[in-house]
Amino acid sequence: MNRRKFMALGVTTLGFGAGKMASAVRPAGAPGTGNDDRAQESAGLPLEAYEPKSMLHLPSHPVSGSRFPLIDFHTHITEGDAHGAPGAVRFEISPETCLAVMERRNIKTMVDLTGGYGEGLRDAIHKLQDAHPGRFIVFTEPAWDKASDPGYSRLQAELIESAHRSGAKGIKVLKTLGLFLREKGTGKLIAIDDPRFDEMWEAAGALNMPVAIHISDPEAFFLPIDRFNERWEELHAHPDWSFHGRDFPSNLALQEARRRVMRRHPRTQFVCLHVANAENLKYVSECLDEHPNMHVDIAARIAELGRQPRAARKFFDSYQDRIVFGTDASSNANTPQQLFGDKLYQIYFRFLETEDEYFDYTPAQKPAQGRWCIYGIGLPEPILRKVYWENAARLLGLPANPGAAA
Ligand SMILES: [Zn+2]
Repeated sequence: MNRRKFMALGVTTLGFGAGKMASAVRPAGAPGTGNDDRAQESAGLPLEAYEPKSMLHLPSHPVSGSRFPLIDFHTHITEGDAHGAPGAVRFEISPETCLAVMERRNIKTMVDLTGGYGEGLRDAIHKLQDAHPGRFIVFTEPAWDKASDPGYSRLQAELIESAHRSGAKGIKVLKTLGLFLREKGTGKLIAIDDPRFDEMWEAAGALNMPVAIHISDPEAFFLPIDRFNERWEELHAHPDWSFHGRDFPSNLALQEARRRVMRRHPRTQFVCLHVANAENLKYVSECLDEHPNMHVDIAARIAELGRQPRAARKFFDSYQDRIVFGTDASSNANTPQQLFGDKLYQIYFRFLETEDEYFDYTPAQKPAQGRWCIYGIGLPEPILRKVYWENAARLLGLPANPGAAA
């Protein structure tokens, strides 16, 4: 349908999508149809058709490659089925595609978090880590499908030990834990701090395998999908991303459960993904102050950090030894804001390295996550080196100097 026909139909008559959207944003009493597009647009432009162009004239400093070689701590080169069936993983991005982008953008090492376990894990390690030493690192995932089985605690710890022997360097915990993983039979959600996982957390600490743990999601995903929700369009496009209501715990309850795990396992290093809770840096700071075994990555959250640039810059100053670079890069069409490729990295570099103002946080068409732009935080060289390489290298047992890494 072309635009004129679309407008002539009157957006409120359209079904799921534009109709709901239009009725949510049209001012009360505004006409829904008219004779002329311009009259239409001034009277009641549907939100999804709105594409404002910034009129700011600002200097722009695109960054082609990172200033220093880096580790992308958070990528999904291989993936299992949705919400944790990590027994079988498949390649979503080929190693060759990765290496070409890495060469161009000064990325020394990519960490493939979703390596699964068993055969799939060994295949990922073989084709990535073994075939290209120093360029890839593979993490294992818990066998969620066995979590309700008798003897799971021991079995899971043994699976971690076996993954470590195969070459896995860390453990990835998807938000499966806390939001999707349910008890077989009763269907009850299994808590993040359920004691059945204690042996696994301990094994991770004993083997020096960092735990990359994603729990919860943006705060707006826990609120009603109404006109006050800042991610209304994102949630409208993906209603299954909403954790509002039903039996879901609150965002805070999930965060606090993870804190209890970190408290109970002080020898285990946890990397709380997506800045742990990117909208609330005060809360994250309190957590980092209390838990010396806590770290964060910035993956898929420059949209949040970049719209609070002064708070973000202070956060990087204060916790410069605990923040690692990550993008959450994948080939998943559902998350175009994280699509692996040159453009994704260039936006991250611009955010971290320059003080450019008001630019897009994603190569995808807006609004991928929300209708705002971001500001660079211009990190000084010593902090950049830590965030790009040194902090992740320490966690992964790599040399402190990227030049010395295989
Ligand atoms: Zn991820």
